[in-house]
Formats: sequence, structure tokens, C-alpha cells
Amino acid sequence: MKWVIVLLLLVHPCFAQVGVDIMIQHGKIIDGTGNSWFYGDVAIKDGKIIAVGNLSHLNAKKIINASSLIVAPGFIDVHTHIEDDEVKNPFASNFIYDGVTTVITGNCGLSKVDLRKYFLFIDSIHPAVNVASLIGHNDVRKAVMGSVNREPDEIEMQQMEALITKAMKDGAVGFSTGLIYIPGTYATTNEIIQLAKIAAKYNGVYTTHMRDEADSVTQAIEEALTIGRLADISVEISHFKLSGQQNWGRSKETLPMVIKARQDGLDVTIDQYPYTASSTSLSTLLPDWVFADGQDSINARLNNLTIRKQLIKYMMGKLKKRKLKHYSYTVVANYKADTILNGKSIEAINLLMHKKHKAKAEAETILEMIEKGGAGMVFHGMSENDVKNIMQYPFNMFASDASIRVFGAAVPHPRGYGTNARILSKYVREEKILFLEEAIRRMTSLPAQKFHLKNRGLLLKDYAADIVVFDENEVQDLSTYEKPHQYSTGFKYVLVNGKITLENGNQTTERNGKVLYGEGHQQL
Ligand SMILES: [Zn+2]
Repeated sequence: MKWVIVLLLLVHPCFAQVGVDIMIQHGKIIDGTGNSWFYGDVAIKDGKIIAVGNLSHLNAKKIINASSLIVAPGFIDVHTHIEDDEVKNPFASNFIYDGVTTVITGNCGLSKVDLRKYFLFIDSIHPAVNVASLIGHNDVRKAVMGSVNREPDEIEMQQMEALITKAMKDGAVGFSTGLIYIPGTYATTNEIIQLAKIAAKYNGVYTTHMRDEADSVTQAIEEALTIGRLADISVEISHFKLSGQQNWGRSKETLPMVIKARQDGLDVTIDQYPYTASSTSLSTLLPDWVFADGQDSINARLNNLTIRKQLIKYMMGKLKKRKLKHYSYTVVANYKADTILNGKSIEAINLLMHKKHKAKAEAETILEMIEKGGAGMVFHGMSENDVKNIMQYPFNMFASDASIRVFGAAVPHPRGYGTNARILSKYVREEKILFLEEAIRRMTSLPAQKFHLKNRGLLLKDYAADIVVFDENEVQDLSTYEKPHQYSTGFKYVLVNGKITLENGNQTTERNGKVLYGEGHQQL
């Protein structure tokens, strides 16, 4: 009789004491769908969510008290550039402290070409975040043709196609272009269409840093949409913006193009970092033909007096268009030849060096820096109104466009530390541009759906336990242009595949990220 009762206790559901690894209790749950928050618990076992709701009947080895805190899926940052920095800091702390549990790298045409090798490498360094990658057009083109300024011949085209086919089978989530960078800028629309078709075959996404984000932005959007239509591929326009004062306000013109394309049946979405400054290479201030065939050829061109004069004239014209008298908007982020200049504007550098306080003299300084290998820059060139207008578009995701930061190194753009916290503090809490649930949807289920990241981006049974727990009243980005190396605050817990990676606001030693493969992935 006694044994029968014991047996009953064990098998009857009312008495079953399911053991879970972690229980997040009494949180305000925002599940990532965009639906309103509700009070509840989340149970985690073996790296997965096993239940969401009122789970007071379950036993847990570890309890996280989330009273008065938000519990949401971990954030997915669809636009990053982590190559070569992941090995310097596999803890990816700038992302973890900002609530990011998954990054997609290989953007703007820049990626590793052999993704099989790259994914094995990622597994070997055990990063704290999950990593997915695109295959980048620039690096594929460089591998086949170097940095020549011409169209590929038939054999070169086949070689590029073969590299992209392999990358998609290796597990890329899509194909990226960077049409302002060398050598991607030398490609015609047709070349991109042909290559994007291959990514489409494996259900990849076409992501693009467009040919222009300034005066010719509408033509650039048109090109991206054309590629989407003719290659029959889902399109993601990266870091959607308007650069240069003369283009401020034109989001009224550019967003409707995206909306119309969707109405016409093209799956196009966009992403954005929530700042009015961009960050890219100093070389983008000059025409792209200057940069063909490597540094020696670049210097030979710059040392030709006729060309030099022509370039100064070109730069003066561009500056005038921006209605600026000085290069005050261009700030050095990372200049390897002289790190003292990091954090200073080109105008300030000239004053520091007692050079003429004239735009022409500043343009000379820029050319000298290019001769010494160039620099990473921060460009203050967007309007807050456009940033907010773009932010309100429902199919816009938030993405940092950043690398894994090495704490204290150089003076990089603050977006690498603060993108998500800035959305949640400045734009949700303070300015009320977005509802919290909507902001979370854009950081979680929207990117997961777009890039086919299965079982990610929602708080649902059987989904991966990538979870953030944060205080909506406290969450804050602290990283600034002047002092970028500051982690966001307000995130209390971050779980990556069920392991506690941030605890009571401090990063732990867990590094439980893994490679997330695209749908074309074929295991060897
Ligand atoms: Zn880019």
C-alpha cells in the first residue's frame, strides 16, 4: 500500500516535481511578439525554455527573482563586424552589457571567405554570444580579382559564384554588399544580381550597405530593390540613413520607397543605429578610383600633383554641399599611424599642428593620413528628425554596426556599447517614440524571422534560452563620443543558451554562444 502511494506521487501530474535548471520568477514578461507584457515565470532546462507562465509548481536548482523587472528574449544584432576582434575578447562584453545574445557578422561586403573554417574557429574560441555570418561580396571579389577596377570576366564570375555557393552550404545566412568600399564599388548591378541569386537558392538574405546614403540615396535604394526583385531574394538595407545636411528631411522620400516595395510584394526590411553620427573609413571622403590596386598605387596617385589638386577640388565641392567651412564633422576614431589623433576632428588636428585654419589645409591633412594607411572615422552628419522618423517604421531593426570592442582601445563610435540601451532609455522611456514591447520586438523576433534563426527571438517553449532581464527605469547607455568605453547599465541578467552570462549586472565567466547556421547549411 505504501509503495502504491509513493508511485502515485511520482506519476500523477499534480504531484510531479519537474526539476528545472533555472527559474526566472515574477517578471514582467515581454515575449518578443510585440504583445503587451504580463506577469509570469520562465523555466529553463538544458539550454532551452521549457515553460512560460505561472510556474510556481516547478522546482528549480537556481531561482532568479525578476520582481519589477522586464524579462525578454536576448537581443539579436543583425549588423555587426566582429571579424578579428572576437579573438581579442571572446567575452564580447560590449554586447553582453547591452543585452545582445546573438550577432550577425559579415556585413557591408566584409566577411571571411572560408566560412567553414571561420565557424570552426568561432566554436574553438567559445564566444559569449551566438554568431551567424553573411558571405561578403567585397572579400569574395578580392579573393578572385584583387582590387582591380573593372568587370569580372566569365571565369572570374564562375569563381565568385563557386565561393558563394560554398559559403551558403557552409551555413551563411545571406550575402552582403558594401558598394561604397573597394572593390565592391567597382561591381555593376548585374554582377550583384547574379551573385545574389545563389544566396537566394539557399534561402539567404541580401543585405546591403548601399552605393550611396547621401545625394544619390534614392537611386541607391532603387538599385537594392531591383536586386531583390531580379534575384528573387529577401532584402535588408543596412544602417538606413541620410548623410549630409543637404539631405536632411529626405527620410520622407526614402521610407515610402521601402513601404511601396513591400506593398508590391518584395520582402524588404531595414536596420538602423540610433545615433546622428556614422562611422566608417576616411577613404569614403575621396572618389573610389583613388583606391584601386593597393597602397602603393594609392600613394602614386596622391603624389601626382594634378591628381592631388583635382582631389582637393573634389573635397572642397563636397564640403560646400554640406554647407560646412571646416572638417569639424569628421572625427578620428582609430588612426594607427598616430594614435594621439584619435578622438580629434580634422579641424582640431590642423589647429593642433599649427596648420592654416582653412578647409584646403584640412583636406591636405586627410590626404596625408590616407598616404599613411588611412583611418577609421566618426562622421557627424545626420539629423535627429530623420533618425526618429526611420525609427518609427515597424520593419526597422536596431543594430550596432559595431565590432566586439577591446575595452579602452581607440575612440570608436559609442554604438558598439550602447545601441539597445539607448533605444530603451532615450527613445522608449524618455521621448516615448516607441512602446517598450515594440522596441523589444524589433530587437528579437523581427531579426530572428528575417534571418531564419530558428527557435530564437521569442520567449516560447522549446526556444533557446537566450534571455535578458532588465530594469526599464534604470536601463541606460553611458557610452559617449568623447568617452565611448563605458558599458550600458540596467541589464541585471543575460542568459545565452541557458547559461547565466550576466548576473546582478556583472558579467560572469560563462561563454556559451554558438554558431547559428543558415538554411543552406550542409554538414560534411
Ligand atoms: Zn556599412
